[in-house]
Amino acid sequence: MAAAEERDRAAGRRRHHHQRRRRQHRARRACARHRRHRPLGRLRHLRARGARDGHRRAPARGARGHDRGGPGRAGRARVTVLAPETSYEVTIPVVVVGAGAAGLCAALAAREAGAEVLVLERDPVPRGSTALSAGLVPAAGTRWQREAGIEDTPEAFAADILAKAEGEPDPAEVARVTRVAGPALEWLADAHGLRFSVITDFRYPGHSANRMHGLPSRSGEELVDRLREAAERAGVDILCDAWVTALHARLDGRIAGLTLRRPDGTEDHLGCGALVLACNGYGGNKALVRQHVPALAEALYFGHPGNQGEAVLWGEALGAAARHLSGHQGHGSVAHPAGILITWATITEGGVQVNLEGRRFSDESHGYSEQAARVLEQPEGLAWTIFDARIAGIARQFEDFRQAEAAGAILEADSIPALAAATHLPEAALAETLAEVARLKAAGATDAHGRRFAGSPPLVAPYRAVRVTGALFHTQGGLVVDDAARVLRPDGSAIPNLFAAGGAACGVSGSRASGYLSGNGLLTAVALGRLAGQAAATAA
Ligand SMILES: Cc1cc2nc3c(=O)[nH]c(=O)nc-3n(C[C@H](O)[C@H](O)[C@H](O)COP(=O)(O)OP(=O)(O)OC[C@H]3O[C@@H](n4cnc5c(N)ncnc54)[C@H](O)[C@@H]3O)c2cc1C
Repeated sequence: MAAAEERDRAAGRRRHHHQRRRRQHRARRACARHRRHRPLGRLRHLRARGARDGHRRAPARGARGHDRGGPGRAGRARVTVLAPETSYEVTIPVVVVGAGAAGLCAALAAREAGAEVLVLERDPVPRGSTALSAGLVPAAGTRWQREAGIEDTPEAFAADILAKAEGEPDPAEVARVTRVAGPALEWLADAHGLRFSVITDFRYPGHSANRMHGLPSRSGEELVDRLREAAERAGVDILCDAWVTALHARLDGRIAGLTLRRPDGTEDHLGCGALVLACNGYGGNKALVRQHVPALAEALYFGHPGNQGEAVLWGEALGAAARHLSGHQGHGSVAHPAGILITWATITEGGVQVNLEGRRFSDESHGYSEQAARVLEQPEGLAWTIFDARIAGIARQFEDFRQAEAAGAILEADSIPALAAATHLPEAALAETLAEVARLKAAGATDAHGRRFAGSPPLVAPYRAVRVTGALFHTQGGLVVDDAARVLRPDGSAIPNLFAAGGAACGVSGSRASGYLSGNGLLTAVALGRLAGQAAATAA
């Protein structure tokens, strides 16, 4: 029996692996198609050229030459201040750094406003943390909500964000993104064919209405692929394998251009009218994480490794304001060792977490972000999420969960002794814990950790269990921006042609993990991305 189970799990893991490979292959093919057939005008010869030094200039005398020595790959990010008369062989009106949700939304918006747009992406295929996410974007007052009879407003949404972050974020910034998110999703649906719908069968903690919107597969891969396709259709040029390693700023702070490096080590310099930083935060930079988020310094980083904090380092060198750098999204439910995100619906729908001693250790319902550190504090930094077949049915709408099932990460047991045997948890402690949970649910009571069980259906056999650990998903601190997503200096003045969106900009979660309300990540990617693109087209 055990051997058969192990065979099934191995087959599941293989299936999961092949499905992922197939999806990546499809995206790569699409990108290659794009590269072959889309004429890039002036860029074509930039591509054809090898390394070239003609436009390298020494910093003007007296100018600040910033060479941001930093850790890891981010150590190579630098800001060079060029003499004002420097010209570029190729200048593009709007350049976007990063092809995740923020960069592609910015590109679409700038293109729609009539600008020529180039997106530079360091990877061979646009993926980013967006592709790793569940692709769920919160928005209030949308037509999908109205069709489902959900009453919601941007003001109620803003109030939820501020409540979760205990009033820390700037209310004006929160009002800005909550106002823009709904129209931005409807724009992506109407103008670019993204098939959003609203999730109605469960609600993430801290949201007062069902307002998570996702594409049919509820996956970020689908989101980034559809955005990329839309950008290609709209005439946006996307240059992959193009790692931006330096910005060039004039003495008045305006961005004149940038340096990009190709995989063979050659470098090119490119002028720009306006620049949008959409290269996310610094979750992939261990040293910056150690500095700003020490509690998760040794945690698994579950986001995109290419997010090395260049936006913040460049901003710092340019004298821009950055805020809430310790803010982040953690997650207390990443299947271990499978490394697959397990939806928090497993908890909100009534599941619980126990440590390796079979004991609960927290109010899990408070939020998955702060739960990362709590799980990591447990023996071996591990926990088991325990739920049942009903909850598994809800969770199955997520591709990640289906993959976890296929990979054999979700165990099934007909009884508590069988569950203890499958998980190797001490049977007596586990039985005691689950009996207490059943009692709390039946009484609609609140437990010693503060979790309220009123209205939570009982957990019934057959049970499900998945071993999980805590992880860092992405950072939430970043560059401070105004209503047009322009990057601001500490005195409130704007760097006129520099914009930031998504994880590159300061989010709306404040300075603590507990301030992260589900969806805050893609919220600022989509909302600020659209604002940045619109404004960059005007500034170019
Ligand atoms: C597992 C997981 C699940 C998540 N689920 C959700 C969710 O359901 N809802 C939600 O709201 N948020 C979620 N998030 C957070 C969300 O994914 C991010 O907030 C969002 O994707 C950020 O978008 P972005 O465009 O700013 O960054 P990214 O999508 O990371 O894109 C940045 C891009 O910039 C590129 N880049 C970086 N540096 C350079 C450079 N120097 N030169 C050129 N290119 C560069 C990177 O390669 C990358 O492609 C999740 C995150 C993770 C990790």
